Amino acid sequence: MKLLDGKKISNQIKEEIAAAVADMKNRGEKVPHLAAVLVGNDGASLTYVGSKVRSCEKIGFRSTLVHLPEETTEEQLLQEVYKLNGNKDIDGYIVQLPLPKHIDEEKILLAVHPDKDVDGFHPTNFGKMALDMPSFVPATPYGIMELLKRYKVETQGKHCVVIGRSHIVGRPISILMSQKGEAADATVTLTHSRTKDLKSLTLQADIIVSALGVPGFLKADMVKDGVVVIDVGITRVADPSRERGYYLSGDVDFEAVSRKASYITPVPGGVGPMTIAMLLKNTLLARERHKEMA
Ligand code: NAD
Repeated sequence: MKLLDGKKISNQIKEEIAAAVADMKNRGEKVPHLAAVLVGNDGASLTYVGSKVRSCEKIGFRSTLVHLPEETTEEQLLQEVYKLNGNKDIDGYIVQLPLPKHIDEEKILLAVHPDKDVDGFHPTNFGKMALDMPSFVPATPYGIMELLKRYKVETQGKHCVVIGRSHIVGRPISILMSQKGEAADATVTLTHSRTKDLKSLTLQADIIVSALGVPGFLKADMVKDGVVVIDVGITRVADPSRERGYYLSGDVDFEAVSRKASYITPVPGGVGPMTIAMLLKNTLLARERHKEMA
């Protein structure tokens, strides 16, 4: 069994980006600038946004945090989004999800300018991705593809079973892995909560991407020997014995499944850190594209 070490690979990617930023600085060019919009004080969101901002600083990007109160109205948030769209200084930005219930997420994501949509959630970018055109690929599936590429995991002609059909992970990774190219060319089965007899499908899988958010869902008797397992799930499980009151669990029964797997991602330290690295990569891309357009 070989660990797909997202922490190590994400650090490599960040070093590559930092080197590109240093070159930009040496040439006297503007460095990439990422903004993050956070509405309210959800604990997990604060952690995610904080770590994105810190990563920007470490690699030499500029970063701006727009932290708005929980009671921000949809209209006020839209105005913030329009301001960011019009701000030439900012190359890309993210609106941290989930938003408070009184705000229509779809309306906000549609208002983000596709050229600054480094999360790749806008339909324009999603459509371009699906058509194999240059776009911003959502950071989590982008990170999974990069991990498979850098470990040279064989995917061509392999049967990949994706568990979960969300717009940010399951659906896009099923599209990407079925396309032509490196870390792709797979035959993909996209499964979800209405799938019948999931086990009969996972038992046929050469590669499993699990993105459903149920701790320990994928058990050893659901996989065949030599399977490649990508565990996207990150769930906080309450644990009063720990100082912070919880631990993070993936979707996979790691202990047992890793004994059968040829490659497997750990949680934490697998897909999670890759997601942040690819968000930074998208921001670098956004800067390069804006430079070309200037
Ligand atoms: P989601 O929570 O929006 O949806 C879950 C999906 O799982 C749905 O499509 C549903 O149909 C499917 N599902 C639920 N029960 C199922 C079952 N019994 N069998 C088969 N399918 C089932 O999905 P999401 O936003 O992609 O999040 C999934 C997990 O991935 C969560 O734990 C989330 O925290 C994590 N996540 C991690 C990262 C990262 O950076 N590593 C990024 C995004 C999401």
